[in-house]
Amino acid sequence: MSRLIGKVALVTGASRGIGEAISRRFVAEGATVWLTDLDAGDDCTLMEDVGSAARFARLDVREEDEWERVIASVLERDGRLDVLVNNAGITGFDDGFVAHDPENASLENWRKVHRTNLDGVFLGCKYAIRAMRPTKTGSIINISSRSGLVGIPAAAAYASSKAAVRNHSKTVALWCAQQGLAIRCNSIHPAAILTPMWEPMLGTGPDRDERMAALVKDTPLQRFGRVEEVAAMAVFLASDEAPYVTGSEFNIDGGLLAGSAATPG
Ligand code: NAP
Repeated sequence: MSRLIGKVALVTGASRGIGEAISRRFVAEGATVWLTDLDAGDDCTLMEDVGSAARFARLDVREEDEWERVIASVLERDGRLDVLVNNAGITGFDDGFVAHDPENASLENWRKVHRTNLDGVFLGCKYAIRAMRPTKTGSIINISSRSGLVGIPAAAAYASSKAAVRNHSKTVALWCAQQGLAIRCNSIHPAAILTPMWEPMLGTGPDRDERMAALVKDTPLQRFGRVEEVAAMAVFLASDEAPYVTGSEFNIDGGLLAGSAATPG
């Protein structure tokens, strides 16, 4: 557990779910980790657990001035930034029962989802490149989704925003390479990973187990993925084991994209 010793990392949306798991694993691997979130610092259990190798800062990824402030704090306190994980993301589903399909979704909801999922990643990449430029090295990891690779009729804005994250990751990778910088940028594409993001879809009713089973019935491995499985991929991409990996995309989907439910038997 020493694959990230000496590295300074920043994770967005770090207070729960995939961001929390990545942060915990990065600390365990020896990194100094900036855990950022809308309410970072309020979760005392997380603060006690991760200990002195973690810093906490509020960072709303939609706000450019917050990126400027937090990146300045990172450089002032730790002198460098080696890894950024653009993890914060929303489905838009926690606004209650509103349409997300391409025919009925509101422009307001479409923009809201893109503002967090896409504008947030754009700003993160922009300020990370600037922060990493002095050392000419670094790793930017963007958490896209399986939904960024296929269409999702009931989640148009989410799918569109995640597809744009996939593409922007490649643009960032090429820009940095063109600039002669060893700053790598890759995207991770999880399918169903059991986190609080799924709660509005699973509910707490007696049919919860049935709903869970239905959501993974087309997944070859027949289960939800675990946050630790995404964290393991992030460690590899953040580490010095991946210096030739940039502009690439990594699926963590239990085999879902390997074929199609309609494949002839
Ligand atoms: P989650 O449990 O809902 O956690 C997301 C975190 O992001 C929360 O802590 C949330 O804070 C924070 N956040 C939301 N808006 C933010 C903003 N504007 N600025 C800063 N932080 C913000 O989600 P998750 O399942 O761990 O997902 C993490 C990432 O993986 C997302 O990008 C998601 O799209 C992607 N992903 C997840 C799955 C999955 O199955 N779970 C699959 C594919 C991709 P609050 O709690 O304060 O709102």
